[in-house]
Amino acid sequence: MEGYEPVIGLEIHAQLLTRTKIFCGCATAFGAPPNTHVCPVCLGMPGTLPVLNAAAVEFAARAALALNCTVHEQSVFARKNYFYPDLPKGYQISQYDRPLATQGFLDVAGTRVRITRLHMEEDAGKSIHHGFPDSDRATYVDCNRAGVPLIEIVTEPDMRSAAAASDFFMRVRDVLMALGVNDGNMEEGSLRCDANVSIRPEGDATLGTKTEIKNVNSFRFLRRALEHEIERQGELVARGDRVRQETRLWDSAAGKTVAMRSKEEAHDYRYFPEPDLPPLTLDREWIANLQSSLPELPAARMARLMREHALSEYDAETLVRAVPGGADYFEALVAHGAASKAAANWLLGDVQRVLKEQGDLPLAAFAERVAPEALAELLQMLDAGAISGPIAKQVFEQMAIEGGRPKAIVEAAGLSRIADASAIETLVDQVLATNPDAVAQYRAGKTQTFGFLVGQVMKASKGRADAAAVNALLRKKL
Ligand code: ADP
Ligand code: ZN
Ligand code: MG
Repeated sequence: MEGYEPVIGLEIHAQLLTRTKIFCGCATAFGAPPNTHVCPVCLGMPGTLPVLNAAAVEFAARAALALNCTVHEQSVFARKNYFYPDLPKGYQISQYDRPLATQGFLDVAGTRVRITRLHMEEDAGKSIHHGFPDSDRATYVDCNRAGVPLIEIVTEPDMRSAAAASDFFMRVRDVLMALGVNDGNMEEGSLRCDANVSIRPEGDATLGTKTEIKNVNSFRFLRRALEHEIERQGELVARGDRVRQETRLWDSAAGKTVAMRSKEEAHDYRYFPEPDLPPLTLDREWIANLQSSLPELPAARMARLMREHALSEYDAETLVRAVPGGADYFEALVAHGAASKAAANWLLGDVQRVLKEQGDLPLAAFAERVAPEALAELLQMLDAGAISGPIAKQVFEQMAIEGGRPKAIVEAAGLSRIADASAIETLVDQVLATNPDAVAQYRAGKTQTFGFLVGQVMKASKGRADAAAVNALLRKKL
């Protein structure tokens, strides 16, 4: 609405990629038959004790450091009490007033989004309301997910548009995936967010009343849900109504948000420190070591690829973000002697096409057949003029299916470029002799036939002749 600005803060839940759950030894793998990854601990049987998973702590701390947070030497787990069928214990173990980390930030497109806190918690189970013959009368519960380790990342209300919120969420996903702490799989629910949004007159310092959209699991839905919600709030204010503080759900089929519960019905979670877990104490040195062992993060890597290899922003971004492992493969190509522009072009062109043709083959699997050394060798042969462009493509197609080294393939099949002037001249003479009509037409001024004649010579050479040499020689003879 004119004169008003949206204000958005996100609460992002990310599942940590540990093999086992946060407080027991059950597997975290997705897709197992319901209630097969459960034990007395994650089912909340009386008398069981949680034991904190060290790998989960390390992953959470890595994420926090990469998001520029301060990781605290002491944090505390608490019980968040609520009653719901997918929560057998009757409480969720989470961190409350003493979170693992606070005061981070992430810069997205030149704008800083402050991160209020990052804390650890366990996921709940899953209620299944549909899909069973008696689903009209019963709800089923799958506890495989109960006790899976999560981090929750809470931002300050620093985003000013639906697009900015979606960009921020994407960048957080990039960071978590680059760290290897989250698989980024939003369809399976490994990454999801709650979006808080309000509007206020532009220039106002105070915040308006917010609504919260729960459990958004795609960037597109996040954007659409926020756009819709901003518009809905604008209409309310325009007609003199007030926004009610409430939780809303995004109905993707209807393309709108619907009220779920108002703040008056909001939970009192009766938090208290988890009596069965001691405070989480981290060594200052351990935190410092973790900090110094962080990998290069996507934004830094993009900037470096642009700087060191003169890549365009688009190419750098695609290599880092859109093709998993793309930047590694690219840097390996360059390290093995390929020119950077050619390396990027082939990777984003022919290699990506082959991945798609071979049923969305992961780049890592492709690299087992076509190692970066082998492709770099091909690009160098092309660059040095040892083979022609069409032959390079042909050899690449063969490598993509059968593997092998380009030098060996070219030698075995006799594909090396014909640079020898007399050999090319023989071919040109043959073509001129067998196409008298085209020659006559050309000489009569119909110069379009020139291209046809070049094509005939290239064909006669099976793509091995140097196109520039063929052009020059033909022109001379004609
Ligand atoms: P609650 O107590 O309702 O959980 P919090 O203060 O914990 O609210 O904030 C939750 C999230 O909502 C944070 O990401 C925060 O930045 C965001 N938020 C808080 N107030 C507003 C507001 N008025 N408009 C938009 N976002 C807000
Ligand atoms: Zn268990
Ligand atoms: Mg809150």
